[in-house]
Amino acid sequence: MKNKPILAVVIPCFNEEQVLPETFLKLSKKIHEIIKSQKISSKSFLCFVDDGSSDETWTLIDKFHKQDPSLTKGLKLTINKGHQYALLAGLEVVQDKCDISISIDADLQDDIEVMEGFIDCYLAGNEIVYGVRHKREQDTILKKTTAHLFYRLMLLFGVKIVYNHADYRLASSNVLASLKEYKEVNLFLRGIFPTIGYKSTTIEYDRLKRFAGQSKYPFKTMLAFAIEGITSFSVTPLRMVTLIGLVSFLISSGLTIWAIWQKITHNVTPGWSSIIVSIYLLGAVQLLCIGLIGEYIGKIFSEVKAKPRYFIEKFLL
Ligand code: UDP
Ligand code: MG
Repeated sequence: MKNKPILAVVIPCFNEEQVLPETFLKLSKKIHEIIKSQKISSKSFLCFVDDGSSDETWTLIDKFHKQDPSLTKGLKLTINKGHQYALLAGLEVVQDKCDISISIDADLQDDIEVMEGFIDCYLAGNEIVYGVRHKREQDTILKKTTAHLFYRLMLLFGVKIVYNHADYRLASSNVLASLKEYKEVNLFLRGIFPTIGYKSTTIEYDRLKRFAGQSKYPFKTMLAFAIEGITSFSVTPLRMVTLIGLVSFLISSGLTIWAIWQKITHNVTPGWSSIIVSIYLLGAVQLLCIGLIGEYIGKIFSEVKAKPRYFIEKFLL
């Protein structure tokens, strides 16, 4: 019989001292339950990634590790790099130490009860299982609306993502090995996984309330994340050109209508309307196009720079 797969649960944590003890308890209980059900190997483990926290997060991770080094592993990034990079660091490190990974937030908002379902889907031959948020009753209206808009916009822009899927997902080590080949600096994991391929499926779950502490994704961060997802880049000055182009396009559209109206209602000098309309409109369209080209140049710029994406300060493996 094939060996039971080793599961690694990857948990990015940023200033999560308030939730971590509970998260650790619940996750270790869950992992033991699944081990008991004979679906995964007893070598399965948790991997906490401290994303440059300034509170006691790392002290806690260190404590958990000391309690049971084979159950709990930890990584500490040197500086806060954001959820996506912390997750990537965790996934890259566990890739050759496990057969399957499940990524989950530290705040227990993603229902851990469906984890076993993830494993069942894997055992049924899926290499990626996406957790899809079914209900968002616990989220604020702002979060619900912006999240909805975000997914709609992404789909509209042709970014291949799974609707209402955040980063709660199972990925096999094969998938993680492929993920390592993506060298992009502007990281948007939700956009990458669906392009990796392999057999995949989705599982629905209800999004729960944050167990304790504050969301690390205020509106501003979410907006930035959305822009990152669409262009997978943000070179602000270049984007401003687009914005100026857009605003001047709107204004010049109004002025165009006004100029035509003048021609109809007043006796304006012949040629005035056509000249003024073309100056306004063409100027705005040109600016808009320059902005658009700028967006792509921005992308080339950052890919060419190929900055290292993270540095791990400590390993507890
Ligand atoms: N997180 C992180 N680095 C950051 C911000 C967040 O590792 O810079 C982690 C955080 O600890 C949590 C997960 O990402 O485990 C999701 O963050 P949060 O719950 O604050 O986001 P929300 O659920 O409100 O979208
Ligand atoms: Mg959360």
